[in-house]
Amino acid sequence: MERKVRVRFAPSPTGPLHIGGVRTALYNYIFARQNGGDMILRIEDTDSQRFVPGAEEYINEALQWLGIGIDEGVKEGGNYGPYKQSERRDIYREHVKMLLDNGKAYIAFDTPEELENARKEIPNFQYDSSTRGKMTNSLTLPAEEVERRIAAGDKYVVRIKIEPGRDVTVNDLIRGKVVINSSILDDKVLYKSADDLPTYHLANIVDDHLMEVSHVIRGEEWLPSAPLHVLLYEAFGWTDTMPQFVHLPLLLKPVGNGKLSKRDGDKLGFPVFPLDWKDPKTGEISSGYREKGYLPEAVVNFLALLGWNPGDDTEVMNIDELIRKFSFEHCSKSGAKFDYKKGIWFNHEYLMAKPDEELADLIMPLLESRGITGFSREYVAKAAGMVKGRSNLIGDLLEQGDFFFTAPTEYAEKDVRKRWSEDMPRIMEELIGVLEGIEDMSSANAEKIVLDWIAGKGYHLGNVMNAFRLAVVGSCRGPHMFDITELMPKEEVINRIRRAIDTINR
Ligand code: GLU
Repeated sequence: MERKVRVRFAPSPTGPLHIGGVRTALYNYIFARQNGGDMILRIEDTDSQRFVPGAEEYINEALQWLGIGIDEGVKEGGNYGPYKQSERRDIYREHVKMLLDNGKAYIAFDTPEELENARKEIPNFQYDSSTRGKMTNSLTLPAEEVERRIAAGDKYVVRIKIEPGRDVTVNDLIRGKVVINSSILDDKVLYKSADDLPTYHLANIVDDHLMEVSHVIRGEEWLPSAPLHVLLYEAFGWTDTMPQFVHLPLLLKPVGNGKLSKRDGDKLGFPVFPLDWKDPKTGEISSGYREKGYLPEAVVNFLALLGWNPGDDTEVMNIDELIRKFSFEHCSKSGAKFDYKKGIWFNHEYLMAKPDEELADLIMPLLESRGITGFSREYVAKAAGMVKGRSNLIGDLLEQGDFFFTAPTEYAEKDVRKRWSEDMPRIMEELIGVLEGIEDMSSANAEKIVLDWIAGKGYHLGNVMNAFRLAVVGSCRGPHMFDITELMPKEEVINRIRRAIDTINR
């Protein structure tokens, strides 16, 4: 019987969500939407040692910024809650007992020193079928002794009892059948009495089962845990409803070999986090895509293609197209190089495609934060439209278009030397007169009148136009001059020319 698609993103709140985690969340979301399924956000916070305050809020905010919608979760609610593992202790306790009762797990009292000794005495020690008979556990101690120790409050763990010599098969939708022999696995700890909490493995399997998860889509770093997970499903007798596994390819460094790390980002100047993050302990800030000026749609598109392709060379795809085209068959097994320059390229493409009014909405708050106010949305939109071709990140729009909002206070030295010849102040005075006489400042009209004047006077076209630009923009850059002067109030243009005449010294 076909099961309803139910997927989960299950981050541990141990710090800011890494961009690889964001990609995992995105693939889960896309797959859920494609199949009319449910997307669960489960907070896996059973490792109290590694808990970081603020991390859960960060995860929520990042997913929201990117438009990765959650159907069931801590905030959203749902019929399978609680969605935070630290609130499910009773459930795990009950399930640990099930495994103890059916003999698939056992209690172990070994102290850290005992384990250390075993490691010293037994070469390549691992806690498994070959060594468990020599250790202090419920398989070697008399039952009364086990009970006595528990009653006395001795610390213990519960370990899975792995039978050796069996081939364990993990069916993975990207990797096919992955078979490993159970003899290489150790009797992993499932529960610790010290904090009355399960380990990741137990909690993860119990919750996937109870939450009726159909597909476990997660990073490749979890593949080594998958055989143990398969054995846990067996131990509980849940093999019929075991989810389909999907292990996504690793994100690799942009240059060189190995896993993408925060250091790569610091070195090459790109973020590896979706949002800025301030470490609550050290105060250190790690930069995020949002604050760097990326559009969420661009980040989504960029991430979607890290490990998947649509089967042709289409690159720019919005979320609806991604949902339509996505398939695990076109996911790669091998790692995906994190080509951050491609991310910048995507952002440029999405800036270009965005209506100018929406660009204005993005940059007006930035202008305001710099104390620049009083410009209409329409004005800002037109300015943004003129400079977006040269912009990659949102902030570039402001940098490229700064002169639309603030008059230059200095003039590029090189351009002054090259263009502001001795007779330029006089010519610019004349230009002011010409501009004053133009009624219709629309680009084509003003251009014709000014160029006719230049030609009539026999002036050097390039020199005069560049001096004009220098006065208005502050340097010889920017969009078409008469587009600029069409948008700017004429008095402002004239004031700027006047200021240039008064202040430029050669
Ligand atoms: N809590 C694990 C993590 O932090 C979940 C791994 C999984 O999806 O099974 O990624």
